[in-house]
Amino acid sequence: MKVMDIFETMDYGPAPEAPTPALEWLQKQQAFGLFINNRWVKPNSGQYLESTNPATGKSLVQVASANQADVDAAVEAAQAAFEIWSKTPGHIRARYLYALARHIQKHSRLLAVLEALDNGKSIRETRDIDIPLVARHFYYHAGWAQLMTSELPDYRPLGVVGQIIPWNFPLLMLAWKIAPAIAMGNTVVLKPARYTPLTALKFAEIVQEVGLPAGVINILTGEASQVGEALVRHPGIKKIAFTGSTEVGRNIRRTTAGSGKKLSLELGGKSPFIVFDDADLDSVVEGVVDAIWFNQGQVCCAGSRLLVQEDIAECLLAKLRVRMERLRVGDSLDKAVDMGAIVSPAQLKEIQRLVQQGLEEGAQMWQPSWACPTEGYFFPPTLFTNVTPASTIAQVEIFGPVLVAMTFRTPAEAVALANNTRYGLAASIWSENINLALDVAPKLKAGSVWINCTNLFDASSGFGGYRESGYGREGGKEGLYEYVQPAWKAEPQATKAKRAAQAQAGKSAKQNGDGGVTELEADAQEGAVEGQAAVNGYVPHLPAIDRTPKLFIKGKQTRPDSGYSRPIYEPAGRLIGEVGEGNRKDIRNAVEAAHAASSWAAGTAHNRAQILYYIAENLAVREDEFARRIAQQVGCSYADALSEVQVSLSRLFSYAAWTDKYEGSVHRPPLRGVVLALPEPRGVMGLACPDENPLLGFVSLVAPAIAMGNTVIVIPSPKAPLSATDFYQVLETSDVPAGVVNIVTGDREALSKVLAEHDDVDAMWYFGSPEGSRQVELASTGNMKYTWVNHGRARDWLDVKQGEGEEFLREATQVKNIWVPYGE
Ligand code: NAD
Ligand code: MN
Repeated sequence: MKVMDIFETMDYGPAPEAPTPALEWLQKQQAFGLFINNRWVKPNSGQYLESTNPATGKSLVQVASANQADVDAAVEAAQAAFEIWSKTPGHIRARYLYALARHIQKHSRLLAVLEALDNGKSIRETRDIDIPLVARHFYYHAGWAQLMTSELPDYRPLGVVGQIIPWNFPLLMLAWKIAPAIAMGNTVVLKPARYTPLTALKFAEIVQEVGLPAGVINILTGEASQVGEALVRHPGIKKIAFTGSTEVGRNIRRTTAGSGKKLSLELGGKSPFIVFDDADLDSVVEGVVDAIWFNQGQVCCAGSRLLVQEDIAECLLAKLRVRMERLRVGDSLDKAVDMGAIVSPAQLKEIQRLVQQGLEEGAQMWQPSWACPTEGYFFPPTLFTNVTPASTIAQVEIFGPVLVAMTFRTPAEAVALANNTRYGLAASIWSENINLALDVAPKLKAGSVWINCTNLFDASSGFGGYRESGYGREGGKEGLYEYVQPAWKAEPQATKAKRAAQAQAGKSAKQNGDGGVTELEADAQEGAVEGQAAVNGYVPHLPAIDRTPKLFIKGKQTRPDSGYSRPIYEPAGRLIGEVGEGNRKDIRNAVEAAHAASSWAAGTAHNRAQILYYIAENLAVREDEFARRIAQQVGCSYADALSEVQVSLSRLFSYAAWTDKYEGSVHRPPLRGVVLALPEPRGVMGLACPDENPLLGFVSLVAPAIAMGNTVIVIPSPKAPLSATDFYQVLETSDVPAGVVNIVTGDREALSKVLAEHDDVDAMWYFGSPEGSRQVELASTGNMKYTWVNHGRARDWLDVKQGEGEEFLREATQVKNIWVPYGE
């Protein structure tokens, strides 16, 4: 090529990265084994799988195919290592994490080349984005290991964690999983994706180099059906951390239901990229390139739906087509390509299928005039217009370089269109009007919101989804809680069970003590006579005025749809009242009421705090009545019952206090700008109350949930619902807006299932039996709602450590990270 030609065309010359060091490293291995206990072992199956280069379709190397027996061995190694690692001081763990970060930097070029070869993504991205973020993640979490004892003093590690990652950011996803897990003192068994195991294997070599204690990190390559499923089912694993498709996430939720395994899921997305008419359109064009053509669009948070304000749509799309015409697609090791290869033939076929469907549904497709390389698996950048919001390509995650464009007129319409998806991973807003952008950001159902930027990540800022994009966060302080449990839960359960047995024995001894009516029972009977005080021990023999509590929906006492009542007995067996038998229809009405009350979240925290104080004030006036009711229902002494009421009052005060103090934080990632990490309410929540403390159990769930701006449907303890039904009047006199708290009495198991299945319920807390917990987890998979269940394990609600505080606030919220870059 002559200089003159180059001058005329301004074409890029080839700028290939040498693959030699990476290929030599691969050749040295012949075939990779499994990494267990810091050693390379042969797979039990004796079988190997190929990893290929998607840019050429050629095989790179063979890796072991693990099976159940290998998973057992790895979990055993991790269990043994946990005994040591969990007791290793934070400072020592921090040093190891720091060493991992240093070694990643030392091998950064090799890792970048390997990643590009194995995945097909461009070296430009692996070198400048993936690998630096991997190192940053280990550095950042070295810090948390160091600070764990001072910053999370009441938390302990979980044990062995099973981690399953996808192929789109192989080493980065490994870092997101492993760094927080081992920082908090857990040990791990990780399964890389089938197509992209190589950087994980190089990482294993780094683990050896660093001299991490054997068994802390184990890496098993293989098939999903072998390794993935075995990890998910393994009883020795305390937590599964998964990133991948929503479909597989849903399966994992079903499989782990009732097992007690903690679960975090980072799933799919169909993220909106919203452009207002005052946006800087040239920046927008570059933003779109980063949003949907970064990693060939194989990005869970890809800005795959371009929503443009109508008046600038034509202009923006014209600019975009010009830019698309100049994008370069090619070999991942060419430093001058914008896009590399699609990871596999199967993924390519899936993209082609969805694009075909888009055409059949009448959308208009535009692709650049140039052709992709024919060797390897490539797909050109693609733009669809004339797309209707309900069409397949507007709703289904394509996971490829395909953008669909739609238009809107007003900000409200933009929000509605943006939220018109079952996902909620990320969103991007473009406007020169920061007031507008910051007004829109909280209205979007998404875990990350990028203002005038897109696809930015940092270890300091949590990442994760709303809705069917999953739950849990990776990164930030919030991400640490995915890998710890409250200290009291980590105590061996046997001692707790013994304590409970002792308490039980004490109770029955008391009850049988004098063979007749105990003091407790006398107290209880007295309370049963409504409106009558026992004067000088004289109990008048008047029939009580019947008070049959109904349900409490939309601020009103409502008759149950079933027309049935459920009798409530005191422990000694006497009937003490009847409550409404709620059913599916009542729950549906309550959910509707809770939705209609969504302005509760939009109000100020100050206002919500005032109402919680007011509830406490009104409860205090009726302390005696509530104490008697508790004594009557559970057969405890009046003194114990009174102290339950008093703790309930204190609890209401605590959450009133927290309401305007649980505020989130401002992160300073390495960019010019800030990230606002805001806890937002989960939305409409179902709460199934425990049997242990009729009033305190109820208050301990309702108060944090509404304090954080959720609206709730509460199922009181079916054994002792009268404290909750007595509470109607407290709510009615405390200015609680209609629909914020709805109460449906009845069968906890049946009603919880209806709530957990309901697609308009965003989260469900359940405190009941192990089987009930399993049912709730199983039923939650419809809309992948977040669940928090107790697996039948009782709490001591009177103990502040177990019964209140941050744990509850965290469970009642989800963190949204809003990225706000600044500068000219
Ligand atoms: P996938 O769900 O098929 O696989 C992900 C991982 O799970 C792989 O390691 C796979 O082997 C394993 N797996 C598959 N079936 C399993 C099973 N039944 N039990 C246990 N493990 C199993 O997804 P993929 O095709 O590898 O990746 C693409 C998908 O991942 C996209 O839908 C994308 O949205 C999603 N993703 C999400 C995020 C996020 O952070 N939210 C990040 C990357 C990718
Ligand atoms: Mn590969």
